[in-house]
Amino acid sequence: MATRRRRTAEPYKIKMVEPIRMKTRAEREEAIQKAGYNTFLLDSADVYIDLLTDSGTSAMSDNQWAGMMLGDEAYAGSRNWHHLWDAVREVYGFKYMVPTHQGRGAEHLISQILIKPGDYVPGNMYFTTTREHQERAGGTFVDVVIDEAHDPSSLHPFKGNVDLDKLEALIKKVGPDRIPYVSVAVTVNMAGGQPVSMANLRAVRELCDRYRRSDGRPIRVMFDATRCAENAYFIQQREEGYRCRSVREILREMMSYGDGCTMSGKKDNLVNIGGFAATNEPEVYQALTQLVVVFEGMPSYGGLAGRDMEAMARGIYEMVDDDYLAFRVGQVEYLGRQLIDAGVPVVRPIGGHAVFLDARTFLSHIPQSEYPAQTLAAALYVDSGVRGMERGNVSAGRGKDGKERFPKLELVRLTIPRRVYTNNHMDVVADSVIGLFEERETIGGLKMVYEPPQLRFFTARFEPLKKEGFWAFVRG
Ligand SMILES: *Cc1c(COP(=O)(O)O)cnc(C)c1O
Repeated sequence: MATRRRRTAEPYKIKMVEPIRMKTRAEREEAIQKAGYNTFLLDSADVYIDLLTDSGTSAMSDNQWAGMMLGDEAYAGSRNWHHLWDAVREVYGFKYMVPTHQGRGAEHLISQILIKPGDYVPGNMYFTTTREHQERAGGTFVDVVIDEAHDPSSLHPFKGNVDLDKLEALIKKVGPDRIPYVSVAVTVNMAGGQPVSMANLRAVRELCDRYRRSDGRPIRVMFDATRCAENAYFIQQREEGYRCRSVREILREMMSYGDGCTMSGKKDNLVNIGGFAATNEPEVYQALTQLVVVFEGMPSYGGLAGRDMEAMARGIYEMVDDDYLAFRVGQVEYLGRQLIDAGVPVVRPIGGHAVFLDARTFLSHIPQSEYPAQTLAAALYVDSGVRGMERGNVSAGRGKDGKERFPKLELVRLTIPRRVYTNNHMDVVADSVIGLFEERETIGGLKMVYEPPQLRFFTARFEPLKKEGFWAFVRG
């Protein structure tokens, strides 16, 4: 007789609640119009289930909140800074660390220190703020992710992998001296939260070791470690030889193939604000301590309060808990599975932090110049008060030639905050997405009516193309 599969539940219980309420349909229509059809511009009070981002939206544990009360608010040498540094050394394994107000603060410092004008920075797919900082420092970002990452239907288990041939071809073309570092994101946000395998990380390290710069040192590998624990969990689940290793051990091995990292603490570190830059090189650390003072604060606080550093230090130990990660990544899979079963086009396999709707296929009657992902995100909000985010043509912005980039991936990201929603919330989201999918032909595209010069997705405004308005898709 077959044994029934046992279900698992959240590895925590709830001790504090925040009430949420779904606004009426009329209120939601008004809100999205006021927001220029850009979910970034909605007030959170108008949102029922907020899947805009997993950034800074985590629920902290009682242990982290207790740590908040132990903030040592000293200008220099705070005890919480020592705790944070200990956590980075023990869990990541990097020797030196400076805190920053969030991930982009660390990206700014590392880019300014390592990149010279005319350099090339290969990376496994761009990320918005990362590329912006690399380009501001005079570098040119070169995408060296494997082709599968751009194919939303490829079932490759490690779609975030670096394409070693593309990387080697670039090194041969421009020479190691023009490559300050290889930028390796674990997991790859813009590909759908897709992981990189340990074998690939090892191979990237070996390749970088083979090409010496004229100062004799190998090409650096710098991690964007923002979701490194989720990546480590995928390695445990999917890669031969790691099934019996803890996430914590796996993460240490991953990081051992790099020379340092930038980190947004607002993601895997389970805090609402914070980040850091880490390095194994004393000279880079010296440069970081000098630059951090100008842009963030003293090297021992980097724009954070002592209590913020304490919460982040405690979050770093919690993020590598195997049970926590199994539930966290499992909840994302739980939502994704329902959509797949209903035939909704999503990026597969389901990634670590979000379910990505493939808006190009979902709204195949809307050309990319009419922003199908932006349209779908707005429609989802109107339908159920669920807030997702565009990750397509609007996010990709314009190239140096001023033309839109028309990226291969035109996605709506439904990002699951850590430890915040239950699987009942996931059911509500699934019902709404599936309902829209059934009525997709009634949804019309958008035109951009305001475009800011940089990172346009945050503040761009749109209007429906058709005069009869956006409500043509109205259901029920
Ligand atoms: C969020 C994020 C960043 C930037 O971090 P912030 O804390 O938002 O400044 C960098 N890289 C990736 C992959 C991210 O997801």
